[in-house]
Amino acid sequence: MWTDSVGNLIVLKRGLGGEKPKKIMYAAHMDQIGFMVKDIEESGLLRICNMGWNWAGSAYNERVIFRNGITGVVGCYGPIEEAGNRIEKLFVDIGVSGREEAEKLVKIGDCCTYFGPYEHLAGDRICSRALDDRLGCYQLIESLKENPGNLPNDIYYCFVVQEEVGTRGSKVAAQQILPDIGIAVDITPAHDYPNDLTGHNKVGKGIAVKVCDPSVIADEDVLEILEKLCGEKGIPYQREVIDRGGTDASSMNLTGSGVRTSGICVVTRYPHSQSSVVSAEDIEGGIDLMNAFSAFSDWPF
Ligand SMILES: [Zn+2]
Repeated sequence: MWTDSVGNLIVLKRGLGGEKPKKIMYAAHMDQIGFMVKDIEESGLLRICNMGWNWAGSAYNERVIFRNGITGVVGCYGPIEEAGNRIEKLFVDIGVSGREEAEKLVKIGDCCTYFGPYEHLAGDRICSRALDDRLGCYQLIESLKENPGNLPNDIYYCFVVQEEVGTRGSKVAAQQILPDIGIAVDITPAHDYPNDLTGHNKVGKGIAVKVCDPSVIADEDVLEILEKLCGEKGIPYQREVIDRGGTDASSMNLTGSGVRTSGICVVTRYPHSQSSVVSAEDIEGGIDLMNAFSAFSDWPF
């Protein structure tokens, strides 16, 4: 187990080897979207910029929290309807009455993120901020705990940084490991409720196996193995195709002389907001699939 210079935490559970053991890298990102203070106005309002992709309409009138515990509310310079998705139209109000007072609490470059409780909705639905991608981190931890230590493959459980600002941590992690297979363990947007995205992803209909997103095309052999394992183990699954967004799969894919890649993704309503919603059973299915994939030995490559 080690950390690197950018802050990734990499946990290696060695396998016993065998005929064709593989180096399997699972990547889940520890970072979450938020905002950085870029200026403090005379009035004490904080001008902010994006850390990752935010939706202005979702941030508007919501609470945010800084690392030092200072909280604030996101407001808009003018009607939110006219802000489009320009984050420069938003500000954070931390309750001060001027710049001097604000500067005692917050510095240029400080980051804040959404602030709100974790909730259970009806059935097995969970609602929280930062499910993207703390649920992936949870899946890696659980799968690591369930690794019996006698698998054929070397499994690298990578808790990576800075995915939301350009899949940066996974680039560095993948270069160190040079895996045979890279699996992004992350979320994917749902298409089963009224919103601006279309596709086949449904919450509660099983773990999603990545076929394609704008940043990566999954390896056909790896995808076939993932689907076969779901069938064998009775894990409900769905094939994931999205036409917006991306994951750490892209950076693993393009490492070294190329890495076979796919993703194990939890379908998520209201992604990149303070109130994302997922199914607990989908999360558990992802852990079961990771365990089965880690133990696989009949590789066709
Ligand atoms: Zn993510």
